[in-house]
Amino acid sequence: MKTRARILDGKAVAREVRAEVKVRAGRLRERGIVPKLGIVLAGGFAPSQIYVRSKERACARAGIEVEVARFPDETTFEELRDRIQEWNQDKALHGMIVQLPLPGGIDSSKVLDLVKPGKDVDGLTSMNLGKLVAGRPEFMPATPAGIIELLVRSRVGISGRRVVVVGRSELVGKPLANILLLRGDRGDATVTVCHSKTRDLAEVCRSADILVVAAGRARLVDGDMVKPGAVVIDVGINRTEQGLVGDVDFDSVAAKASAITPVPGGVGPMTVAMLLVNTVKAAENQASGE
Ligand code: NAP
Repeated sequence: MKTRARILDGKAVAREVRAEVKVRAGRLRERGIVPKLGIVLAGGFAPSQIYVRSKERACARAGIEVEVARFPDETTFEELRDRIQEWNQDKALHGMIVQLPLPGGIDSSKVLDLVKPGKDVDGLTSMNLGKLVAGRPEFMPATPAGIIELLVRSRVGISGRRVVVVGRSELVGKPLANILLLRGDRGDATVTVCHSKTRDLAEVCRSADILVVAAGRARLVDGDMVKPGAVVIDVGINRTEQGLVGDVDFDSVAAKASAITPVPGGVGPMTVAMLLVNTVKAAENQASGE
């Protein structure tokens, strides 16, 4: 009888990563430097309030100070710009993120590009995304970086494997594909990226040794779309009447895959952990005058 897939426990791996960040933050504090993150939170979108609260908690536990700048739904580009520019100059604040989505009418890419690249701990400025594509990454976006970290620490080999990424967003799919193409053990994959215009998605997915689904469509991928023994990473967070579900139909896929991430408790905790890693790294860089 076939055993069910191994669960890739993002919560446990994130705990490990956060403990390492805490040690690094402690070393900075011994030198009189308190690592600090700024979060721009615009509008009242409920999931964003939850994500920001969990980021605040994780920072506090890891010894990273946080300041949240809250703006109402009717805020303007200029108000956000002024705060980001103030934080760009603030030597006591080492990293900042802009919680997405922004209220309607505000161009998020224009806002993101105001962040000084050295403080861009979400890795979403054009400069940092460009460096990643050029093969010289500095800060990598937290969700894709978290997926790689989870695979590596779960001893899933990436090099030489065929990886299919479903989704091509600037936040997840596109940076992930580029990280997977970097040279070295954490990359060197053969990468295929799918999106809503991909023909015969099921067949492409079945070619994957590692299948990453980041489409934002509840249970888009089921067991028939997965090769026996594949590793499946479910990035999706969908609020449905049955509660929170991923982009992967867990039961049918777990019966076929060799390993799978749960939702919740898979990629989500890794995203927060990698934000902490990037923040402490920004503080270390700034402390050493980079
Ligand atoms: P997004 O910006 O909406 O992008 C979705 C991507 O999926 C697009 O490229 C879209 O194709 C593609 N897609 C949609 N329906 C498809 C279909 N039926 N077949 C094939 N491709 C399809 O979403 P995102 O920001 O990347 O987020 C994706 C999911 O991950 C969401 O559920 C989000 O909540 C979740 N998420 C989780 C975390 C975490 O920490 N766990 C972090 C970020 C996001 P087109 O480009 O052609 O439209």
